[in-house]
Amino acid sequence: MAIPWNKVTAVIDLADIVHNYKLLNARSGNAVPVVKADAYGHGLAQVAQVLAQEGAETFAVGTVEEAQALRASGHARNVLALLGPVDQADVRLAREARIVPFLHCFEQLDLLAAQPGAPLEVALKFDTGMRRLGFTLEDVPALAQRLEALPGVKAAYVCSHLATADEPAAHDYAREQGREFAAVREALAARGIRPRASIANSAGILAHPELHLDFQRAGVALYGTNPFQGTPLAHLGEGLRTAMQVRTKILSVHALKAGQTISYGRTYTAERDMTVAIAAAGYADAYSRGLSGRAGMCVNGRRAPVLGRVCMQMTAVDVSGIEGVAPGGDAWLLGGEGKGRVSAEELAGWWGSITYEVFCMLGLNRREYA
Ligand SMILES: *Cc1c(COP(=O)(O)O)cnc(C)c1O
Repeated sequence: MAIPWNKVTAVIDLADIVHNYKLLNARSGNAVPVVKADAYGHGLAQVAQVLAQEGAETFAVGTVEEAQALRASGHARNVLALLGPVDQADVRLAREARIVPFLHCFEQLDLLAAQPGAPLEVALKFDTGMRRLGFTLEDVPALAQRLEALPGVKAAYVCSHLATADEPAAHDYAREQGREFAAVREALAARGIRPRASIANSAGILAHPELHLDFQRAGVALYGTNPFQGTPLAHLGEGLRTAMQVRTKILSVHALKAGQTISYGRTYTAERDMTVAIAAAGYADAYSRGLSGRAGMCVNGRRAPVLGRVCMQMTAVDVSGIEGVAPGGDAWLLGGEGKGRVSAEELAGWWGSITYEVFCMLGLNRREYA
């Protein structure tokens, strides 16, 4: 929770996350939960706890410090830090807390060499087409040599990341990355390095069985997003359940007469006499100002369109014709009941973004667990 003073609550159904985990695991066999960014806004320790109860032993987070927080929660046997060590403090922490850092460049090997200590398992990250982080196939000989000179450092995992796994039209690129990764693994094996391999993310789990390898990294689908929603492959993600809903309180309900305008800049003019509710959520609560005039909330099971500009801590919605709306009642920014329910995909569309960002941002609010 990073936004302490507001009326917004993210309601997380951990049973949905367990359901999604089982569904993904049944598809691919060895799905490692990705719980970086506070479990995509769902709560690092809480998510790890319920998944550990389901048998998950290995988890992936971002920074080494995040890995240490997960280690301290006591719920994870193996913790992978996807971003790897950035400085000596990270190296120290990784060694002390038995965290498995990803290594993506030679400078990180220098960091390890400068601070020998307890034996350390590492994951080698390879770039097979994302062009973001990672060693390349050409680096293998030099990398193998460097690793030999680092006693105690064991390459236990080798990973790569897919750039287009959730785009059916670009599946050829994912397959190409798969072939490049196979070449990397062969080159490593030729030098006696045989780590456990992983390239599949959520979309890879659902659409690329040939890329499941030793383990998979399940992120957004764990939280209920079907990466193929709206594509011809949508059936692959059927049955996933969105675990997050977000509600706030209604501050005021009042009339807006035909011809009157509402909120900053007067961007909305009432075409008829209306009833508006002022919901206690705005961009300071991670309800983006970009949602002005385009989003909707769910109020008493019905859809209440956002009117005019989203303010810092308030947003006006049209509740004309909705029964029983009063100050102190609930307005759902995400989720809710009935026909007015706001799906994460819909909200992401209005936001001009993806559900990943919706979850990470709204998850900064206080959370409640169902
Ligand atoms: C975030 C992340 C994942 C999970 O991806 P999803 O698309 O959310 O399943 C997997 N691997 C790496 C390296 C990541 O950073």
